[in-house]
Amino acid sequence: MTELPRSEDYPSPQIRVEALEALLVERGLVDPNVLDGFINRYVNDVGPMNGAKVVAKAWVDDDYRKRLLADGTEACKELGFGGPQGEHIVVVENTPEMHNMVVCTLCSCYPWPLLGLPPNWYKDPAYRARSVREPRALLKEMGLDLPDSVEITVWDSSAENRYFILPMRPEGTEGLSEDELAKLVSRDAMVGVAQVTAG
Ligand code: FE
Repeated sequence: MTELPRSEDYPSPQIRVEALEALLVERGLVDPNVLDGFINRYVNDVGPMNGAKVVAKAWVDDDYRKRLLADGTEACKELGFGGPQGEHIVVVENTPEMHNMVVCTLCSCYPWPLLGLPPNWYKDPAYRARSVREPRALLKEMGLDLPDSVEITVWDSSAENRYFILPMRPEGTEGLSEDELAKLVSRDAMVGVAQVTAG
């Protein structure tokens, strides 16, 4: 059996990405300006705020919440959020009994139009392996200590299903507007490694 190379035997991801980009540009397969524009858009323009708007709307509008759970891609499009890496959005809802979290065990599939680019820990092999093997311990290390009475479901994202968590609306936020609610919603809560707090 051939032994697989270990990740520390490779050059850094940055060098490998640069080499890949250089090759694609050289072969005329990618326009570097298009690539830069793409990266800029997701780093600077999108960020996790789009996802937070979706969550806040679902909290204040129960019909929207139902549409979101039935067809995430379409419901996000209603708010203008779609496009590359935003197809096949599947929304799962946290409840007092069930906590959901998202991983991509294979690579780093992630709903870009809702959350921007994935954080480094999401792409980390340790997160990808441990979220499946020992989600409760991992969440605790990340600052979310769930009582044993709460079940945990881990959703494995892929190009076919990009999971997005609808967190629970925190208590004490009854008087807040949709915009004020959106400000409470963090990226980590929409990946399922945190809960939303009243601030
Ligand atoms: Fe992936």
